[in-house]
This record gives sequence, C-alpha cells and structure tokens, in this order.
Amino acid sequence: MADKTPDTAAENVQKVIQVAGSITVGELAELLNLSVTTLIGELFKNGIIATINQKIDFETATIIVEELGLDVVLEKKEVATGPTREEHTLSDKAVERPPIVAVMGHVDHGKTSLLDAILETKTVEGEAGGITQHISAYQVEKGGRKITLLDTPGHEAFAALRQHGATLTDVVVIVVAADDGVKPQTIEAIRFAREANAKIVVAINKMDKETANPQLVKTQLATEHNLNPEEWGGDVIMVEVSAKTGAGLDKLLENVLLVADIEELKADEHVPAKGLVIEAHMETGRGSVVGLLVEHGKLHPGQFLVAGTSYGKIRTLLDFKGAALKEAGPSTPVTVTGFKDLPQFGDEFGLVKSEKEARQATVANRLERERQAAETNVTGADILKLMSQKQEAADFNVIVKADVQGSLTSVMDSLRLIDTQGAVTLRIVGSGVGNISENDVHLAATEGTVIYGFNVDLPPAVKRQAARDKVEVRMYKVIYELLDNAKESMEALIAPEVVETVTGGLTIKGVFRTLKDEVICGGEVTSGKIVPGVMARVTRKDEVLAEVEVTKVQRNQVEAKEVFEGDMCGLSLKTNKKLVLELEDKLEFFTRELVKKTL
Ligand code: GDP
Repeated sequence: MADKTPDTAAENVQKVIQVAGSITVGELAELLNLSVTTLIGELFKNGIIATINQKIDFETATIIVEELGLDVVLEKKEVATGPTREEHTLSDKAVERPPIVAVMGHVDHGKTSLLDAILETKTVEGEAGGITQHISAYQVEKGGRKITLLDTPGHEAFAALRQHGATLTDVVVIVVAADDGVKPQTIEAIRFAREANAKIVVAINKMDKETANPQLVKTQLATEHNLNPEEWGGDVIMVEVSAKTGAGLDKLLENVLLVADIEELKADEHVPAKGLVIEAHMETGRGSVVGLLVEHGKLHPGQFLVAGTSYGKIRTLLDFKGAALKEAGPSTPVTVTGFKDLPQFGDEFGLVKSEKEARQATVANRLERERQAAETNVTGADILKLMSQKQEAADFNVIVKADVQGSLTSVMDSLRLIDTQGAVTLRIVGSGVGNISENDVHLAATEGTVIYGFNVDLPPAVKRQAARDKVEVRMYKVIYELLDNAKESMEALIAPEVVETVTGGLTIKGVFRTLKDEVICGGEVTSGKIVPGVMARVTRKDEVLAEVEVTKVQRNQVEAKEVFEGDMCGLSLKTNKKLVLELEDKLEFFTRELVKKTL
C-alpha cells in the first residue's frame, strides 16, 4: 500500500466508514485518506507503537479519528464472535449433585482460615494431613452429603472465569469479619455473587473476638447492600462463626446445603464427561498437572480429553487429597496428568474418542482462537486508560503478551482488578497476542515498563535485546503467580507515607550569633520539649521561614539532653542557607518518620 503524502483530511466531510472489530493501520489510513506515517505518528503520540500491518480495534480507531479532528464517523460492522459455551440441557435422568461453593470476602477477614478449619474438621481424620500442595478445590462431607469448596485463588481469577461465561459456583459464602464489617472486597464479592447468579450465605467470622459486632455487620449488609438477614425477616442466611474456635462451622455447612437444596442442583451422569479447567501448571517429573471440575458425566483414567487448544489422555486421575480415583462424577474436583500442554484456566473440557479426534478438536479450537486473536493487537481500552492517566499516583507500567486472546483478556482484566486504593496506577501500555517481540522490548524501554508474558515464548534474540535495553521480561504460565508478582511490584511502588509528629514549641528570646549555616540563639520552650537532633520549623507571624535542625541544646550554659515547657534554653540551629532570626520568631519541633504502606 503506497503512502498518500498530502493529507486530505479536511476534505472528508462527515464520511461514514464501516470498520469491523479491528482493522490494520494500513487499511485505516487508506480509508481515512491519510498517510500511514501520519496515522502511525498519531498512534505513537498515544503511546502505541504500531506497524502498517498491525491491527487496531474499533475503539482505538475511533479515538484516533477524534484525536486527529477528522470529520469522519466510524461505524462498527458487526462480525460474528467465537463460539460461546453451550448450555447443558438436563435430561430427565439427571441426579442430585453436590453444591459448588466459593468462599469470598475482604482480605484478612478469614477466608483461608475458614477453609482450613472446615477442611480440618470435615475431612476424615488423618486425611487432611495428606494435603501437601495447594489445590484449587476440595470436597467435604456434612451429614453424609458432599460439598465442593473452591479455593478461589482471589477475586481476580473468579472475575476472569466469569468473563468466559463460566459461572460454576452455586453458592458464594461471603466472609465478613465481625470486628471489621463490610469492606471494599466484601462489596465486590457481593457483586460477583449476584452477577454469577449464585446464592449468598454470609459467614460473620471472628466471633471469638471481644470486639465482634455481628449486629453492625448485619445492619451494614441490610441497609447498604440489600442483603436482609433471615432473622430479620429477610432471605439471606447469616451464620456467626469463628474459624479460630470452630464455632458455627457446622451450622454454616448445614445452611449451605439448605440453600443448595432450594436450588435443586442436578447433573447428568450418563453423558460424556465435561466441565471446567480450574488450575493448570507444569511440574517436574509429572508434566502438566491440571485441576478439573467435573460438571456432567464421569471421568475415568485412560479417557481422551480436549480442553481449549490442549489435549491428552488421562494418565492419573486423583482426588484433592492425591488419592487415585477410578471415576469422578459431577461436582468432583480432580487433578489429572497426561495433557500434552497446559490448557487455560476457565477452558471447558470434553471427552473425545481417540487421539486423532482430540488433535482435530484442538486444531479447530486453536484456529478459532487465532481468528479471534487476530482481531485485535491494540485495544481502545488500553489507550483510553493511557489518555486518562493521573500523574499523582505512582504508575506501574506493563506490557502484556499472551498466547491467545482469551488469556490476554483474563490477565489484563485481573491486573486491572488489583486494588491499590488509588495508590498505584496500573498502565497497560501495550498488549497483544503472540511471543514477546523486539517491538515490545522497544516500547518497554521507551515507556519504562515491565513485560509480562503469559504462556508465550521469549525468542533468544529478543531476550538479548531486553538484556541490552535493561527491560524486565517476566514469564508466567500460572495466572495467579503473575498476579501475585504484579501485586508485589505495585506494593513496592507505593511511596512510604511521611508522618510528622510535633514534639514541642519555642519562642526566640535572643539571637547571639548568625553564621552562614548556623544560628546560635536562646528561647523559651512554650510546649512539649526540645531535644538535640530534633527538626524545627521556623515561623514568623504564621509564615514559614525555614526548616532547621537543632544540633545542640543548653540549659544554664551546660549541654542538656532535653528541656521542657516553661524553661529557657540556648540552642544551635543548623541551616542550609543564611537565616536571620528575630525576637519572637517561633520554632515548632517535630519528628519525621517514613511509614511503609502495603496494599
Ligand atoms: P483471608 O485473607 O481472608 O484469607 O484471611 P486469613 O484466613 O488469612 O485470616 C486473616 C487473619 O485473621 C489471620 O491472622 C487469622 O489468624 C485471623 N483469623 C481468621 N479467622 C479468625 C477467627 O475466627 N478469629 C480470630 N480471632 N482470628 C481469625
């Protein structure tokens, strides 16, 4: 495509241009009757380094058109999107299945402790001890009935899962600490539960604490979040528990089952097994280790599975304790080995008859994903984000690359959900599908960003370039590990808070010597005390003149360690510029401390 050098934007009077989900820079330039260089320049101004063949999405194109002040209206041409998850229609042979429960809530309100406590008391003695590694789902028994507990690896992953149409939770237990009440992540959890159409059971935790105030929690939930406790005539079960003492845990599980009963949860056992990937990682010696949650049908060792673009023959089928299973039916969390490569969190898995069929299915899935992925290299959300940057907060700049569009979306969404309470702004400077490229490194070097690669490769040449340009490339295969790393990095960016404490005051009563960087004077301590080494602000009629350091304090011509309110003293002040003090000037003594903040 030849560049059209003279820009003829002005001649474009309210032209309507149809653009599909995405368009290459070259095509857009042609449609807009602009030179490619102008367009690339405009993208560059917005922090996007794009080549002529790179695709940008509709939103980005719209923003660029507006920025250029063109009289063009872009209209979105609707294109069919990829396959969405097929709804399973229950047969009349469907049987009751255990409820799938997620435990959510604000950090430190006791989610982990609660899960641990439930596991400890509700799994058969001795067996819980066998759980040596982190597993993303467990099963417990209550009154001979099973409950599947998801150890949701954080709200982020839950959100990502939901984004892919996977609403696998039946009940969300929202943990609220009785001594802390409703907090931001409590609200987020309520929102997630509602959006996922899950039933809510509230666990008011830490009831063993003296400061526990369950009534306040209930009032907050009822008045501000429309969750009305059953005991007040509402329809939300709220159970007071203590993960520490174990009190109320039985009642909590009973109520989870009660809520589940109302839902009449059912599944088909006699259909080919299907469900969702809830964890996937590589392990030395075992290869791919994949956590699955069976939704329908039964899994057996030796079956061929397809999940997204991965397939494999089930080599080992293990329950959450690591014990080998002969079969696993609906709502059972299992770990399987045998996948050729890692499927993605949230992928749906299904059975196929042979390796050949498995390969064909993954090829079809891969093509579909690639087609979707090709749609977009740069998204409008990224650039809007860039344009609305506030500079006060520290920025954490990242470029995200992932193998397929689905994981790219989950990683970016999850990153955006990391709550820094405004302390750090996450800027996704660039994103795309595919291996880390020289372009990415180049952009990262100019923008000072970290590159996150998710399930992608870092070609040796690019690696060398990154080392040369001092660009940090962080590669991950497990989303939570990536998110943990991002969170840590953001924490490290939060500027420590400066806390000043006023320790005393003094009024100048005599000035004895004024040197270039020192003043020797005397005064009366009017409040608190003065000690050598303390900092002081010098003010005259409310105007701050300088900040000085008290290097020496004397009382009755002898050096003193401290002089208190009401006493006269002599002092030496260290200044960084000549300071001419006058009688009745005031000193305010203070200490300054740096307090590290965490997320
Ligand atoms: P999470 O961040 O929600 O998973 O919270 P944790 O389970 O890590 O708990 C946070 C802190 O609260 C830990 O120090 C726990 O020991 C404490 N904690 C959790 N549950 C209880 C409880 O019922 N009573 C008391 N006193 N402390 C608890």
